[in-house]
Amino acid sequence: MLEPAYQVDVVVVGAGVAGLSAAHRLTSAGVTTAVLEAAEWVGGRMSTEKVDGFRLDRIGQLLFTSYPELTHGPGLDALVLRPFAPGVLLHSDGRHHRAGAPAGGRGARGALNAVRALASAPRSSPVLPRSRGRIRASGPAPSAPSVALAGTGSPDTGPDVAPYAPHAGDQESTSPARASGRTVTAERAQMFGIGAPLRLRAALARLAATPVDRLLARPELPVSEALRTRGLPARTVDGFLRPLLTALLCDPDLTSSSRCADLALRAFAAGRLCLPEGGADVVPELLAATLPPGTVHTGVRVTSVSTTKVTTAEHGEIGCRAVLVATDARAAADLLPGLRVPEFHPVTVVHHTTDDAPATGGYLLLDADRSGPVSHTAVISRVDPLRAPVGRALITSTVLGTPPDDVDTAVRRHLARLYRTSTARWETLAVHHTPEAVPAMRPPHDLRRPVRLLAGLYVCGDHRDTSTLQGALHSAHRAASALLADLGAGRSLHRADPAATRARAAAA
Ligand SMILES: Cc1cc2nc3c(=O)[nH]c(=O)nc-3n(C[C@H](O)[C@H](O)[C@H](O)COP(=O)(O)OP(=O)(O)OC[C@H]3O[C@@H](n4cnc5c(N)ncnc54)[C@H](O)[C@@H]3O)c2cc1C
Repeated sequence: MLEPAYQVDVVVVGAGVAGLSAAHRLTSAGVTTAVLEAAEWVGGRMSTEKVDGFRLDRIGQLLFTSYPELTHGPGLDALVLRPFAPGVLLHSDGRHHRAGAPAGGRGARGALNAVRALASAPRSSPVLPRSRGRIRASGPAPSAPSVALAGTGSPDTGPDVAPYAPHAGDQESTSPARASGRTVTAERAQMFGIGAPLRLRAALARLAATPVDRLLARPELPVSEALRTRGLPARTVDGFLRPLLTALLCDPDLTSSSRCADLALRAFAAGRLCLPEGGADVVPELLAATLPPGTVHTGVRVTSVSTTKVTTAEHGEIGCRAVLVATDARAAADLLPGLRVPEFHPVTVVHHTTDDAPATGGYLLLDADRSGPVSHTAVISRVDPLRAPVGRALITSTVLGTPPDDVDTAVRRHLARLYRTSTARWETLAVHHTPEAVPAMRPPHDLRRPVRLLAGLYVCGDHRDTSTLQGALHSAHRAASALLADLGAGRSLHRADPAATRARAAAA
């Protein structure tokens, strides 16, 4: 219970990953903090439903081992990331094509250059994670990061884009199958246009090696327009970049800023898609567990904020020396009039189970043909076996935009084509629809929206950076740094005043 005279240095409003991460940074610096959360649980959008031994995330599956805040952020040392198989599988004309996997020598050289370029990038830029030994492979060990999303490969290094043929080993491992060089050449030409892989590979290698500041100085356009003007063949764009970026940005019409697309592609090139072992909610739960006992108060809705207090629906006023609003964009605008409410992308995540898992290994599968509502899908239990009971497969699929009326039937039909198997006997475990899932990032998109509104009033969350877990955590990093700088520099903001505290307590 919060006593009426309760007094802390900082009140954080919202116990999503941003609020919890900021609270961790503040309490680690010795600042007394209370996190007030309206829901009865922590985690916000990073929640996981537990049903009959399955762990069903509300969010999509697109996190990266190259998210610096995820792999290096404080409070997440115990986090284990389960990588998907390298690259992605693309479904086109009834066939599966593997793309974006590391390509041996040439890929490794490109990756090395990217690592060097990233290492010399400005401090505020995303950088590759140091290995902390907490990325656990479900199949082969994570390989070198790749900047070769669709290169030509060579006989000794193997192709970067290959038709995918499942084989027995896929049942136990995520190792991709490779077809003969001849078939690969034909497929590649069909899928991407002759000569396209080289250009695409070069473009992405350049992208990975470009310092972030230069990247962000490029002309900013809606992604769909930028894709038309970057000199890539239409088949490369439609067969690979469009489905990949649609999934990464949760944006079916690709109206997002091309800068956000560049950053997303760079994250793809520099790391591996991954899942937190055990469910998305492991991330907020780990962060919450690092806080001093009694820091987080659930079931407390904040109704107004100022630089010196918050008002709650349940416990009256709580005095403090600074407030950090760490809610979603809409709630933040309610509490902080003047803050802009962005448009949002709706996302629907559908979970199915079967005892006969499709043979696509641990890949993320994208539909290049856009022949149904599913943007991307994966046999999640192949990537993280903890998410399903033994003997059952968990298949998770994401629908972007407004879902069709009978979403489960439409998704099942589409999945039957994508996985090339009957889905009639698959069991539906959950359909999670979130109308305001991620803030839209239309151009012009400020990737570093202000987090310090006034001395004593701060804001963070994915609506201040990119609409991703990385963006939410990075905004928390920026807000906590600004707050700590103010607390350190402006003593009047922070100095304990026992007389004032006693007077407030007496008045209460
Ligand atoms: C369906 C879906 C799919 C997604 N897919 C991906 C993906 O593939 N990859 C990726 O990186 N990101 C993805 N995201 C985005 C990612 O989940 C978010 O960017 C991130 O979780 C945002 O965290 P946050 O802390 O900023 O906000 P939130 O998680 O929204 O936390 C805000 C908290 O504030 C609380 N709150 C609100 N108002 C009040 C109030 N008045 N008083 C007290 N508490 C309040 C809320 O209850 C909530 O707990 C997805 C999100 C969704 C919903």
